[in-house]
Amino acid sequence: NSGRTPLMAGNWKMNLNHHEAVHLVQKLALGLADKKHDFSAVEVVVVPPFTDIRSVQTTVDGGQLQIKYGAQDISVHDDGAYTGEISAAMLAKLGCSYVVVGHSERREYHGETDALVNAKAHKALAGGMTPIVCVGEGLDVRQSGEHVAHCVAQIDGSLAGFSSAQLASLVVAYEPVWAIGTGEVATPEDAQEVCAALRARIAETAGDEAAAGIRILYGGSVKAANIAGIMQKPDVDGALVGGASLQADEFGGICRFY
Ligand code: PEP
Repeated sequence: NSGRTPLMAGNWKMNLNHHEAVHLVQKLALGLADKKHDFSAVEVVVVPPFTDIRSVQTTVDGGQLQIKYGAQDISVHDDGAYTGEISAAMLAKLGCSYVVVGHSERREYHGETDALVNAKAHKALAGGMTPIVCVGEGLDVRQSGEHVAHCVAQIDGSLAGFSSAQLASLVVAYEPVWAIGTGEVATPEDAQEVCAALRARIAETAGDEAAAGIRILYGGSVKAANIAGIMQKPDVDGALVGGASLQADEFGGICRFY
């Protein structure tokens, strides 16, 4: 037993308006309540689009649900003339616990570099939220056999400048790009290989306390039917779930993998 609380985070991406968001959160909560989900054993987090966060907040507060929520991105700026951006203070004010940074879709479609991802992770933590820092290799890198080195380099850049104690509180998500939204899930062994290498790298650069505390998630075509095998691996502490998090029953099943 690692002592790390498993974390299941549902990244809704650009799906669901605020009415649909309320419906999904209520349905998820009802399902988990029915099945007596132990929130101390598995933390449940939803990550809706910005426009849904206020509604999710109201739903979660009103029902006194133990479901937490976060944002899919954050600005590196505090305030000012940055049209379209959302600051850490705005997200914290809405009760966000987590912020996903450096998702592969942001890296690919918005040119986000490790340096930018690192700056966003620092903003999230300084704002009182936990960054979920995403890394992962594309198919070409996987086929070349360089996937571990690629992800370790991304971790080095994306987690720069945090103290050991800070690192111990962060979350990393290993998401091989070839497994995202493709239905092609990595094997539990594939997930373990990279998650273990990332933890070893953190031990090497920041010490054992950081490596023992930091939670490392796997992401890529996770479903209720494949989560159990993935969670059996010692260095996998949870999952970042895309498509399957849009269905309450499916995501509920993932949260109750144990
Ligand atoms: C994701 O984008 O974070 C993800 C893991 O997506 P999916 O579960 O749909 O593969």
